[in-house]
Amino acid sequence: PSADAPRRVTVLGSTGSIGCNTIDLIDRNRDAYDVVALTANGNVDVLAEQALRLRPEVAVVADEDKYAALKERLAGSGIEAAAGCAAVTEAAARDADWVMSAIVGAAGLEPTLAAIRRGCVVGLANKETLVCAGALVMAEVEKYGATLLPVDSEHSAIFQVFDFEQAQRVSRIVLTASGGPFREWEREAMEAVTPAQAVAHPNWSMGAKISVDSATMMNKGLELIEAAHLFPVPEDRIEILVHPQSVIHSMVEYVDASMLAQLGTPDMRTPIAFALAWPARMAAPSPRLDLAAVAQLTFQAPDTERFPALRLARAALQSGGAVPTLLNAANEVAVARFLAGEIGFLDIARSVETVLERVGSMPLATLEDVAAADAEARRLAATVTPRARAAAE
Ligand code: NAD
Ligand code: MG
Repeated sequence: PSADAPRRVTVLGSTGSIGCNTIDLIDRNRDAYDVVALTANGNVDVLAEQALRLRPEVAVVADEDKYAALKERLAGSGIEAAAGCAAVTEAAARDADWVMSAIVGAAGLEPTLAAIRRGCVVGLANKETLVCAGALVMAEVEKYGATLLPVDSEHSAIFQVFDFEQAQRVSRIVLTASGGPFREWEREAMEAVTPAQAVAHPNWSMGAKISVDSATMMNKGLELIEAAHLFPVPEDRIEILVHPQSVIHSMVEYVDASMLAQLGTPDMRTPIAFALAWPARMAAPSPRLDLAAVAQLTFQAPDTERFPALRLARAALQSGGAVPTLLNAANEVAVARFLAGEIGFLDIARSVETVLERVGSMPLATLEDVAAADAEARRLAATVTPRARAAAE
């Protein structure tokens, strides 16, 4: 788009944590953006309020039971209401220039692909899309000339300091991790962690699923796989480093031993603004970094004994094929079961490991293969008795 023409934008998952932050930035710069579509799972109140304020062409709920409520809230506004997963994907395929992919989980894959296939600039928050179908998604990005801009703060940091023209001179990526709320806990104590404890992240305010992933450190495992797809660097050159202050969002080291980092306060509006304005920059309301007040930055090596999800994700990336797809799907189900009180905190990684052991290898060449692997892992994960539990019984 020309410098003055409003950018036509769509927000998938507009009612979530990333979605609301994206809407906040769009709302502060109304002249710069025309909203094409907003989608949510079922939060009609927030979706209708956003739609009436930002006037998209269409607002969509994935949950068909919410259609009547949405239609009623939008009556007389001229904004189309739609419902169902197919309608979410159809909305993602409308003629926007820029699409925020902020649905949580593998549910975001199809709508994200629809935007990619229109050759859009896609702001990618939905890391599960790359974990469950990374190679296929990246091939579609290439085929349709789409642009993928990472919104995950670590990947936005890497993107901002990664010299793609000298990719072969990158010697290492250092992915920083806060370590989550249980960074210093003994493993035995984690057995009794409650959902309320797990969703209370020390630095970031996020949706429930990613908060639990941060607590198990599966989030960093998913981010490792995400980074391996986004940046042309071999897996063994992507390191994880625990950095509790979340000030350095990640780093790239070059062959001359120079390390470049991106820093900031932990506020997702900065990486979202980076993607929203790219290739320009826009003002963001994030608090400024006061390093004198922070005073100290500390670092420690990750502990894969206490946080086995890190080991499982690294192994899944090394195995390739359907293993990352299975890992992601099993983790989604295990997190949901933990939040529902069905399994304990440490059972999340145990369930994932058990599912991976049971399924073995599956082919992964097409999107149908992704769907089959995803479904098989979900089927097993829904009833699996986690490993250590089974041994104890
Ligand atoms: P969230 O739970 O707050 O929001 C999820 C959004 O997706 C909501 O709008 C919800 O209505 C919608 N949604 C959920 N299930 C759906 C389905 N089946 N079909 C259609 N829509 C559905 O989650 P979030 O924290 O905003 O995270 C969104 C994504 O961004 C995740 O992939 C997460 O890993 C990633 N991410 C989030 C943060 C963060 O700070 N919150 C940071 C980095 C990456
Ligand atoms: Mg992140």
